Amino acid sequence: MEIRKNYDLIVIGGGPGGYVAAIRGAQLGADVLIIEKDELGGTCLNRGCIPTKTILSDVKLFENLKKSETLKADNIRMDMEKLIERKNKVIKTLNTGVKFLIKDNGITFLQGKASFIDRKTVEVDSKNGKQRFEGNKIIIATGSVSAQIPNVNVDGKTILTSTEMLELSSIPKELIIIGGGVIGVEFASIFNGLGSKVKIIEMLPEIISTEDHEIIRGLTSIFKKKNIEIYTDTRVKGTKINQGRPEILAVDKEGKEMVFNGEKILIAVGRSPYTDGLGLERLNIEMDGKFIKVNEKMETSIPNIYAIGDVTGHQMLAHKASAEGIVAAENASGHSSRIDYSKIPNCIYTLPEVSSVGLTEKKAKERGLQIMTGRFPFQSNGRALAAGEPEGFVKIVAEKDLGQIIGVHILGENATDLIGGPTLALALEATVEELGKTIQPHPTLTEAIMEAALDAIKQAIHLPRKK
Ligand code: NAD
Repeated sequence: MEIRKNYDLIVIGGGPGGYVAAIRGAQLGADVLIIEKDELGGTCLNRGCIPTKTILSDVKLFENLKKSETLKADNIRMDMEKLIERKNKVIKTLNTGVKFLIKDNGITFLQGKASFIDRKTVEVDSKNGKQRFEGNKIIIATGSVSAQIPNVNVDGKTILTSTEMLELSSIPKELIIIGGGVIGVEFASIFNGLGSKVKIIEMLPEIISTEDHEIIRGLTSIFKKKNIEIYTDTRVKGTKINQGRPEILAVDKEGKEMVFNGEKILIAVGRSPYTDGLGLERLNIEMDGKFIKVNEKMETSIPNIYAIGDVTGHQMLAHKASAEGIVAAENASGHSSRIDYSKIPNCIYTLPEVSSVGLTEKKAKERGLQIMTGRFPFQSNGRALAAGEPEGFVKIVAEKDLGQIIGVHILGENATDLIGGPTLALALEATVEELGKTIQPHPTLTEAIMEAALDAIKQAIHLPRKK
């Protein structure tokens, strides 16, 4: 495709925020240029969501075969090289798909690193040298990179980020994970399933601390049963070298020093917005700490520039970035769209999975809301037992007067797929009665959501009677 110099819309960054914004812009008639320094698909497709889920699927199969009472698969082992090969194949297939969509929508794709010259001009450093382009509107979608801990040096050999973890060709005997957030617990599940001795070090009193307390307690107890060691209230402060190998130095809440060592150490302490070399200093754009400040229309302080995804903060989620991309592209094309952060589902791909949408019980109480709650355990759900996956439960938080659902929390098999229905229920402002009386197919896991909704109004059928 011929590369021109002027565009209606330039998108910087080709992750799930940027490429979705580019497609939405093109759908609305804009002439779009998308610039990406690596591969289209960003962290999500190349180094995050997709590779981890591909690996997790095989690990789940591996775990299920090992625990099966009926299948006799002696001496099964995971072929790590094949696993990495399969992961790369999935990435390639999806990458080809995104490239096709970009081309099919008449969008120009340029591989290179973009930098602002002024508010309408970007310079791109690509294999063809440096070129300048003008955009009437520009969307910044440059994402994030793994955050670092001061005094802990990621060497790519012993101390790794999630990116290097996805390329390991052998299973480490011990894995120390620093950070019990989303990445920490997902990698704990993967490597525990593969047979590593996993230890998680978390500075807060709980792992996955933003989830509902009952869900946290549930996952913590499942992890402990799987022999994953969890050290909460323990902050990593640095490393020291012992016989040529790095050791982790931490301190607990009483100030007691602790030393951890393992074959591999994963740093999973959050992600930082990526704006290196973007030339933001030439724009005088308003920031919110390290993040680019935006309003609910994804507008920055500069009228023709929008920002979306991890570079703007909030939750760092691919689906949130895509939703913001659509909002930004619509506003850049003369429409009026706004983002609503209150009904964005969260998914944690552990074994078993965690998902949630809306408020936790604690948050609802903190806001002074009068609430009622309902629960249903998968232990009492036919399909979960048939699948050999009885762990976990569904919890519903609803406003007391009218029963409007304000939060749904799931721990269990396929929780991340199951949250789609409750997300729609929240979007439609449904009540527990409406959700509970919507007929669900039998036998399915979704019946647990229906029963949890009914439990909130003391009408659950498959639970002991509530007095
Ligand atoms: P996170 O913020 O979820 O968790 C980081 C954890 O590290 C926190 O619990 C924090 O208390 C702890 N921590 C920080 N410094 C520490 C120290 N010195 N010692 C001990 N603990 C320390 O971040 P993450 O897990 O790295 O994930 C990064 C981002 O990517 C998050 O925003 C996450 O939501 C997103 N992400 C989402 C998914 C998903 O949706 N399934 C998957 C992967 C990543």
